[in-house]
Amino acid sequence: MIIVLNHTAQKSDVAALCADLHAQNIQVRCEHSGTTQILCLTGDTHLLNEDRLMAHPAVHKVLRVSEPQRRSSREVHPADTIVTVGKSAVGGGHFAVIAGPCSVESAAQMDQLAQLAAKTGVGFLRGGAFKPRTSPYSFQGLRADGLELLEHARCKSGLPIVSEIMDISHLPLFENVDIIQVGARNMQNFELLKALGHTNKPILLKRGLAATLEELVMSAEYILCGGNPNVILCERGIRTFEPSMRNTLDLSAVPMLHHMTHLPVIVDPSHAAGIAWMVEPLAKAAVAVGADGLMVEVHPDPPHALSDGAQSLNPTQFCKLMEQLRPEIEFFGKQLN
Ligand code: PEP
Ligand code: MN
Repeated sequence: MIIVLNHTAQKSDVAALCADLHAQNIQVRCEHSGTTQILCLTGDTHLLNEDRLMAHPAVHKVLRVSEPQRRSSREVHPADTIVTVGKSAVGGGHFAVIAGPCSVESAAQMDQLAQLAAKTGVGFLRGGAFKPRTSPYSFQGLRADGLELLEHARCKSGLPIVSEIMDISHLPLFENVDIIQVGARNMQNFELLKALGHTNKPILLKRGLAATLEELVMSAEYILCGGNPNVILCERGIRTFEPSMRNTLDLSAVPMLHHMTHLPVIVDPSHAAGIAWMVEPLAKAAVAVGADGLMVEVHPDPPHALSDGAQSLNPTQFCKLMEQLRPEIEFFGKQLN
């Protein structure tokens, strides 16, 4: 770590700063660069708090030379992490499609989708039971009953299930859910992330509406440092100045997250665009940039869906998408579940 001192720094303040650092077992070497005085710090500098150093009257700037090691980093774990549930896997060459409705609505709806998913090469079945809706007057989800219907659909299809948790107090209800989703709105609900770090469930962590990749990765760290290594990252579009789509899909997030971490990275083209006809081109682009999977919203009757009908594919559209994706996934060297 390097500390650049203020030009006006008083000798007594610099001496007090050095004494404070020595007391923390940090070695300090004083150097000059032109008229600027700098302190080169060695030792356990990752334990130092930059904000506290910046508050010191002698300090102009604090520069970290080496970042503290992160559990998500490839320095710690060079190989791709593979998250496995039953026969389904994601990451390290395993490509997973997670498909299902935005909201679980009825047993009949879930039966239809369970059959469709099982015959099309889908790896996981999704369905929202607790829905984060912008308006309190919109459908809020079937809650615990929705999770029960999803569990029935797992029995029918043999596919593991994915559902979103919105509150830490609901955790016991998710005992039979195979992958717990943390939605965009909760990406920085740190207490929830800490609690999920203490579970043994794989976590699907979606990027926040206006979150940087650094913030997404730090949220993943909350889960990893609690002892849960099974985190899947999901790019689902971010807020930009472009109004013609619901969000802007940030495809460059995929290679960048693969560079920054060893975690599987999937793409959700449905929430990214908010428009059903855009799902196919965006899904294909996601495969081409190296995504480890896709999350796609499918509904038996999109015009009557209780949430996100405009972006949901009907069964015919979904089957066509899967047919087109299969050879592309193979072309890019991955294996569909
Ligand atoms: C969802 O997947 O149902 C959802 C609400 O997604 P997001 O958190 O990305 O908006
Ligand atoms: Mn949705």
